[in-house]
Amino acid sequence: MNMRELSSFRGGIRLDSHKGETQNIASRTLPIPEKLILPLQQHGGVAAEPCVEIGQRVLKNEIIAEARNYFGMRLHAPSSGVISAINKFPVIHPIGLSTDCIELTTDGEDMARGLNTVNDVTSLETEAVYQRVAEAGIVGLGGAGFPAHVKVQEAIGQTVDMLIINAVECEPYITCDDRLIQEHPGEVLAGAALIARVIDAGECIVAVEEDMPAAMAALKGVPSARIELVSIPAIYPSGGEKQLVTILTGREVPTGLLPIDIGVAVLNVATVVAIFRAVFSGKPLLDRLVTVAGDFCSPGNANTLIGTPIKYLLEHFGVSDTSNHRVLAGGPMMGTEILNLAAPITKTVNCILVLHRETAENLSNACIRCGDCLSVCPVGLQPQQLFDAARTSDVDLAQELHLFDCIDCGCCAYVCPSQIPLVHYFRYAKSSIEALDRDRAVADGARARHEQQLQRLSAKSKIGARSGLELADVSALDPSELERDIKAAVSRSSKRRQNENEL
Ligand code: SF4
Ligand code: SF4
Repeated sequence: MNMRELSSFRGGIRLDSHKGETQNIASRTLPIPEKLILPLQQHGGVAAEPCVEIGQRVLKNEIIAEARNYFGMRLHAPSSGVISAINKFPVIHPIGLSTDCIELTTDGEDMARGLNTVNDVTSLETEAVYQRVAEAGIVGLGGAGFPAHVKVQEAIGQTVDMLIINAVECEPYITCDDRLIQEHPGEVLAGAALIARVIDAGECIVAVEEDMPAAMAALKGVPSARIELVSIPAIYPSGGEKQLVTILTGREVPTGLLPIDIGVAVLNVATVVAIFRAVFSGKPLLDRLVTVAGDFCSPGNANTLIGTPIKYLLEHFGVSDTSNHRVLAGGPMMGTEILNLAAPITKTVNCILVLHRETAENLSNACIRCGDCLSVCPVGLQPQQLFDAARTSDVDLAQELHLFDCIDCGCCAYVCPSQIPLVHYFRYAKSSIEALDRDRAVADGARARHEQQLQRLSAKSKIGARSGLELADVSALDPSELERDIKAAVSRSSKRRQNENEL
């Protein structure tokens, strides 16, 4: 029974949870695969820069690719072995693209570089905590993949009234957070207390979906002062960051803003455990729990090394033939179809879902304007109008209809009687607009560089044409070029004076 009064968000739907098949089975640990494929880009930020060479031996925990900037994320070797390739490999991608990856051929010995453990995390200064999080290469493990150190740093710089640890695993089938809490409740609460202290949060809540009773019982079994446990109704998508803030605070996060902008920090529960392990034992993010579920005999959760090929993972769950199945990364609502099972598990993959291909699949009909999608959208969008805009590539209208507020939850597609794959249209429209914006930015940059070059040429010709310099003429010049031109002009002038004296 909650002490806290909860609010509800608009829209949303009750779904069959399909969690009973895996939530009460202990997670297993996979043997080390012969090859690990590590994409240099595993989150929304910039791709990491390899700092190893082909043929180089590496130990587990060793850095193999370095972050290029603040929003970047470093990569570590999940096991010991030899770097066997740095090349393009298939990855999880909506249209099956390959991206740059590091291939590690493991040696089976799992030899590790030593870690720097801290005996008392409560004595660590804020800066030291932040540093250890950044060094561990942690991204949000709930699926969004935002760099954890950036999120922590943002919260440090703000007044945080509430820290929410998000354990509302609302998509059907997925139980990896549920198992993590049941198996490591002490680390969940120690991580929550650590982060609450570092960001100086007014209060700290661990929000657990009501469909996860064993997880809630495990948390209640650990004494924890100042951390409130709250059970959240299983209405999809109650685990969405903004929806969860509304449930717990009664406040809506305005369009274009983040929860932190209204004083609320939200972190996924698996991310919190990864942060605790990084701060306490210096452990980088090398593995994660992944749910493997769907239409086959022995579903469950597996502690999986980052870089493990999905085919290898499925074979360990007895799934070898997927010709009559769709395999998704993520749940049935927001998952991405995996077009090549050689693609690896990345830091953000929480579930591999294997579903029978339905014969009716892809046989969608025309929109009948029933309005069902409108009534369930948790963001208050107009999915049927967005669909028209996306279908006709009307990017201006799509943006006017707030396409980028869509959280890809899939509620609209789920209820659509015409079975229109609305989310696929929305994702495609978003990526098309983003690509267009990138092209525009590249073109604008090229234009700006060209104009600067013309200004420089013009300024140079003025320097050559006159003996005096005007400030306005030289403002666009490269300083080194300017210095060289001035020296040349001084030299010409002194030679001329010398010649005049000699005459
Ligand atoms: S996928 Fe987007 S448009 Fe559809 S219900 Fe969810 S938020 Fe609304
Ligand atoms: S639910 Fe489907 S058929 Fe109904 S209005 Fe929305 S898009 Fe059209």
